[in-house]
Amino acid sequence: MVRVTDATPSALDLPGWRHVYSGKVRDLYVPADTAEGAQPARMLVVASDRVSAFDHVLDPGIPGKGVLLTTLSLWWFDRLAGADGGRSIPNHLAASHTLTRGADGEANTADDVQRLIPDAVTGRAMVVKSLDMQPIECVVRGYLTGSGWAEYQADGTVCGIPLPAGLSNGDRLPEPIYTPAFKAPMGEHDENISFERTVELVGADRAEELRDLSLEIYARAARTAEGRGVILADTKFEFGVDENGVMTLADEVLTSDSSRYWDAAAWESGTTPEERMASFDKQIVRDWLAANWDKQGEPPALPQDVVERTAARYRELLDLLTSA
Ligand code: ATP
Ligand code: MG
Repeated sequence: MVRVTDATPSALDLPGWRHVYSGKVRDLYVPADTAEGAQPARMLVVASDRVSAFDHVLDPGIPGKGVLLTTLSLWWFDRLAGADGGRSIPNHLAASHTLTRGADGEANTADDVQRLIPDAVTGRAMVVKSLDMQPIECVVRGYLTGSGWAEYQADGTVCGIPLPAGLSNGDRLPEPIYTPAFKAPMGEHDENISFERTVELVGADRAEELRDLSLEIYARAARTAEGRGVILADTKFEFGVDENGVMTLADEVLTSDSSRYWDAAAWESGTTPEERMASFDKQIVRDWLAANWDKQGEPPALPQDVVERTAARYRELLDLLTSA
């Protein structure tokens, strides 16, 4: 749960809300009347246009990104709540819960929840249930790329999981693998950990629940994306436990920040890794930085064409997925 312990100055002055935390991309607010040290029932998560890569927030942001990420998260939450025909995965959206409105004990409707979002952040904010977040980034990989590819070349494994020989950068894995990471405190790098380490951190039952849910959600989402000409190469989920002990999907979900998405047609016909992995995500930013920065000191400003191409690819993904 987010505990209100200090009066962090507001990132934005939002009526009815008080700013308590800013991550690399999102800003968190609690109801303005939350007492010091109290655990609020709900929070406002506002997605900014900030973009991060290699653990740095870059300059400038990507115009419209916060709205795109929020729209995509909301769309996926709805699919995973059963709109895709699968069972309903519990999520942190307040509109999908009955939250009490403090002292009067009255339940909120979806409209009530919508009205809590200040005009200044319409389209890029979600009212969510405040959860006890699990300290694990639940990563699922269906394809070999990025840090996984680097490790595979050196050791034939990805996060310690042995893979068949002879795979190339961008290849589909025989089956999706779960490769959890420890969620590092702000400013530190998340650390890949074994499944056994997650058992030590959260207990065997919770660790298995996180793994099974992650693999299930990945499989469902990858199938949905594939039907729309998009490959979901890998993704990261975050979960929290609600007041009834229910493991609940939180944070952003299946966005172009938390996932690698590729154009399926390019992957089929491409010959070089670059052609095959034509991405709809922030790989454009990562590639530019990798070529133009030695990872010492502050990263350079992103050129306008990189910003525009990234924004365009994010929009394209949203259209491909949601307009079918
Ligand atoms: P990054 O995602 O870039 O690694 P970050 O995770 O530090 O950075 P953001 O994603 O910008 O930061 O901030 C969102 C924060 O809100 C995360 O710490 C996330 O765990 C937390 N969070 C998301 N949903 C909930 C929820 N329902 N209850 C409590 N905390 C939540
Ligand atoms: Mg995050």
